[in-house]
Amino acid sequence: MATDQVFVVVGAGQAGGTAVQTLRGEGFDGRIVLVGAERHLPYERPPLSKSYLKGEGWLSEESLRDQQWYDTHRVELRLGARASSVHRADHEITLDDQTTLGYDKLLIATGSNPRRLNVPGAHLPGVHYLRTLEDSEALGAALSGAPNVVVVGAGWIGLETAAAARAKGCRVTVIGPGKVPLQASMGTRLGGYFADLHRRHGVEFQLGRRVSGFQGINKVTSVVTDDGGEFPADVVIAGVGVSPEVGLFDDGMLADDGGVRVDPQMRTDDPDVFAAGDIASVANPLYGRRLRVEHWANALMDGRIAAQSMLGRVSEFDPAPFFFTDQYDVAMEYAGWIDARTADDPVIRGDLAADVFHAFWVVDDVVVAGMHVNAWDEGITPVQDLIRSRIRVNAAELADSTVPLAQLVETLQR
Ligand SMILES: Cc1cc2nc3c(=O)[nH]c(=O)nc-3n(C[C@H](O)[C@H](O)[C@H](O)COP(=O)(O)OP(=O)(O)OC[C@H]3O[C@@H](n4cnc5c(N)ncnc54)[C@H](O)[C@@H]3O)c2cc1C
Repeated sequence: MATDQVFVVVGAGQAGGTAVQTLRGEGFDGRIVLVGAERHLPYERPPLSKSYLKGEGWLSEESLRDQQWYDTHRVELRLGARASSVHRADHEITLDDQTTLGYDKLLIATGSNPRRLNVPGAHLPGVHYLRTLEDSEALGAALSGAPNVVVVGAGWIGLETAAAARAKGCRVTVIGPGKVPLQASMGTRLGGYFADLHRRHGVEFQLGRRVSGFQGINKVTSVVTDDGGEFPADVVIAGVGVSPEVGLFDDGMLADDGGVRVDPQMRTDDPDVFAAGDIASVANPLYGRRLRVEHWANALMDGRIAAQSMLGRVSEFDPAPFFFTDQYDVAMEYAGWIDARTADDPVIRGDLAADVFHAFWVVDDVVVAGMHVNAWDEGITPVQDLIRSRIRVNAAELADSTVPLAQLVETLQR
């Protein structure tokens, strides 16, 4: 595909890195410029709260490429450079060093930023956030030898870092506002399962509490909650959610969820501008609403689709988001989407106490989301098949582990 077109990708993360690979993989021969605020080549973030944080090295580099690949494939790298504005009428972006770059097609995949705590003492050394390689290295070093660690926030990052801190021998307290951890994404039953898992590994939960401040002079020494509690802390990990980095977009291009409005081909309202990954608010045809998905697999898929769209092609969009986590000896895969406030009674197949089970969220006899923990014989594929096909199924059939899931799906699809 010989062309003198210039494709610019802003955001050298999971989605941006995948997009440039796809562009070259699909034979695009024009100029590609990848602009990234971090000084690293695109890398994967999941190990930052798991293996890498525990000091077990980098275990996840399959999907991204090394320097030689970028050189060989003539991808111009502008790393350590931040795009500061986009001038869509001129097809041009400005970088923070005031240089400009023209584009024919522009993909923006700028990811998310951790939400910051805005309470007294939040600036104290010892209060950590986790998004980048450097954050993970700083936190890993701080955890080594820290007697008391307080995790603020009982979501995925909070629980994964709690597990890593336990592996490093720290005493760990998790503070969160819900009745159980993960309440917003899993509901109370599965949230309760994860609470029990962590308690078995020695984590203490302080739930139904909000952090109101941090004590310390030159360094954090304790965390204070709004009900008068105070918890000693040598290290604090704040995992209180993320906000999409959408500063390069006009307000009119944003959706109600704060992301960038795109269709399932990652096209924004501007035919020459695309958005992918954490920032993309996609009109999801399966759920009949916009979803903004902050997961690894979503960034990979979006990056691939956006690249195809830049080439004027249409590719398949998987409407069932996929997510995974590893904590202690529990590996979980999850697919689909639930509003946990309204779907709090999942069907369980298997044994929660044995840490081997599937869970399904069913609305009007249709599976809208499902997960498994350590049930690798059956895995997530039949769950995804059920979600995508929208076939009707009853709870008793799902719970009956004497009939293999794949067989059940096949029977129902006939
Ligand atoms: C610690 C951690 C653990 C995770 N674990 C899991 C997990 O177990 N499972 C899972 O499914 N997901 C996990 N995720 C989520 C997953 O990593 C993200 O959803 C994914 O990285 C999003 O990809 P992205 O390309 O949209 O953004 P990112 O990978 O964040 O990349 C965005 C890049 O854009 C850069 N950027 C921002 N603004 C500009 C600008 N103006 N100019 C230039 N560059 C800019 C940023 O510096 C960043 O490098 C985890 C995330 C974190 C932080």
